[in-house]
Amino acid sequence: MKPRFGRARLALIAIVLGLIASLGLTAASAAPASTSAATQSATTATTATTATTKYVYLTFDDGPWYPYTGQILTILRQYNVHATFFEVGRQVARYPWLTRGAYLRGMSVQNHTWSHPDLRYVSWTTFKYQVLTTDRYIRNQTGYTPRCLRPPYGAVNTTVRNRAAALGKKIRLWTVDPRDWSRPGTSAIVSRVLNNVHSGSVILMHDGGGNRSQTVAALPTILRTLKARGYVFYRMWCA
Ligand SMILES: [Zn+2]
Repeated sequence: MKPRFGRARLALIAIVLGLIASLGLTAASAAPASTSAATQSATTATTATTATTKYVYLTFDDGPWYPYTGQILTILRQYNVHATFFEVGRQVARYPWLTRGAYLRGMSVQNHTWSHPDLRYVSWTTFKYQVLTTDRYIRNQTGYTPRCLRPPYGAVNTTVRNRAAALGKKIRLWTVDPRDWSRPGTSAIVSRVLNNVHSGSVILMHDGGGNRSQTVAALPTILRTLKARGYVFYRMWCA
């Protein structure tokens, strides 16, 4: 083996290690899913002592997307918060390590189709391809098959519901939409979430689909305020 090739390999390893480091992955956080499940149980047990536990589901759509998914994972870890990522299959194919990183951080990774079509207007063959191919790419990074499906644009009708059910999926939409994708400004994203959230809310935000720097910038204030209000953060599994 020529030294030049050896240096190239070392450089590649350094890049990969750098990527892992940028995700903040450590040996501890890379523990099996049972550890995060135990953490979740402990969180639930602690909060169950409160008479009325306020809870929200934080969800991120359209990723994984570089660099926003990694930035969001870092912030979620800083606040010790878990969320659900509805991922687009072709993005998983592009950034598999971000899907893996979300999984290793204890996030729930769920299905948001392969290429983000309006599922009301696709054939049954296309519907199956959109959902099952995404399942496979996510499963390759997480080891599990997503049970939740979030149809793009929240576009559902009876056919979409029946087809989702036929594939064993539960449809999960949202209740609080700050329209962060339209980039209304960080403070607008913050206020739209905080003014509309209540216990049981499903908050929709985006880690992909374009420039999500405003979403990233809004997240710390949202998390800090919701925690101060006594909210706990649940993940969706559709089990
Ligand atoms: Zn979407």
